[in-house]
Amino acid sequence: MANTFSRRETLFGIGAAAVAPYAFFRRDDAKPVGWAVLGLGSYATNQIMPSFKDCEHTKLVALISGHPDKLVRYGDQYGIAAASRYTYDTMDAIRDNPEIDVVYVITPPATHPDFSVRAANLGKHVFSEKPMAPTVSDCQRMIDVCRKNHRSLGVGYRCHFENHNLRAIQACRSGELGKITSITSDHGFNIGHGQWRTEKALAGGGSMMDIGIYSLNALRYLSGGEPKEVVATITNPPDDDRFKDVEDTVDFSLVFPSGLVGHGTSGYSWQQGKNQYKVVGEKGTLVANPATYYEGHHFAIDGKELAVTANNQFATMMDAFSKCIREGGKFQAPGEEGRTDIRIIQAIYSSAASGKPVRLA
Ligand code: NDP
Repeated sequence: MANTFSRRETLFGIGAAAVAPYAFFRRDDAKPVGWAVLGLGSYATNQIMPSFKDCEHTKLVALISGHPDKLVRYGDQYGIAAASRYTYDTMDAIRDNPEIDVVYVITPPATHPDFSVRAANLGKHVFSEKPMAPTVSDCQRMIDVCRKNHRSLGVGYRCHFENHNLRAIQACRSGELGKITSITSDHGFNIGHGQWRTEKALAGGGSMMDIGIYSLNALRYLSGGEPKEVVATITNPPDDDRFKDVEDTVDFSLVFPSGLVGHGTSGYSWQQGKNQYKVVGEKGTLVANPATYYEGHHFAIDGKELAVTANNQFATMMDAFSKCIREGGKFQAPGEEGRTDIRIIQAIYSSAASGKPVRLA
């Protein structure tokens, strides 16, 4: 069994019969798909923008920001023409810029829907960061507007394109671990004070929305199933101003139709951050720690480190979306995937509030 992956292989290309064969761009194909980055914050400027140089079919062609000084700084750094630098006030002009195919929205989650709707109505494909939006109806609004405009919608689930995580999925789905008897996933860190991440109006929720979504999404992609029921509790430390508006620690269980129970945690007050998952099967145990970082992953089965070639997951993800736009295929992390996580997160919140299990449709 191969244990390395080319950068083009993707989550659902492994063990998923329903996926069309992955046809590749040819070297002599048309010019790269043009992307505009909207929101020049930490993730955009430290992870995403530096990754365009590793893309084969994707090019950074425009910037959109609320801060003109950032447009000058990053515009100059990335060689973006002055005419392709927009503010939120002037961005309607992207309609007339044929270089821009995709708008990548990298702003606080509650702002994703309006920016996405705007971009789609301006004739652009939309790529939204996670969490997709605060509510299922927000997600639906994004899906509907893209559908109406015949535009594609992707969500920034970079782990779906990261080679170690792909290898873990292969181990889970191929029988290498045997029948899976338990999956746990823990993600959290110690958040600073005064960030938008602790304001519900911008973040949509607390740790579960921002970092617990990695635990949730991993439980789904490792199990290969969709939960039918969730049970959750939320714990907030008293007298901590970070948790007046949003939740701190979430402890949740997902009951899958197979009978498998996945257990996840999420936290914003953990002095020692956690970024890990563990899959126990009847034939082997996979431990990933760190599991979903930007780099430096360690994945082992029964204590033996897996030989996986690291890839630039950001570039692989963007190229995969570009390819779908050019070839008309279905992106592996579409709006529906983002909406599924939000639906489950809302059920997690309901269960924690009621103290009862919540069944999912
Ligand atoms: P930052 O606060 O660093 O940047 C957010 C940027 O959004 C700001 O710099 C600003 O850009 C723009 N913005 C637009 N409207 C607002 C507003 N009302 N309040 C604040 N900022 C606004 O956040 P991050 O970069 O860490 O996160 C941005 C998004 O990326 C979030 O959805 C987050 O969950 C996601 N993310 C994803 C990661 C991943 O691994 N997939 C990792 C980290 C974040 P400008 O000044 O240019 O207008």
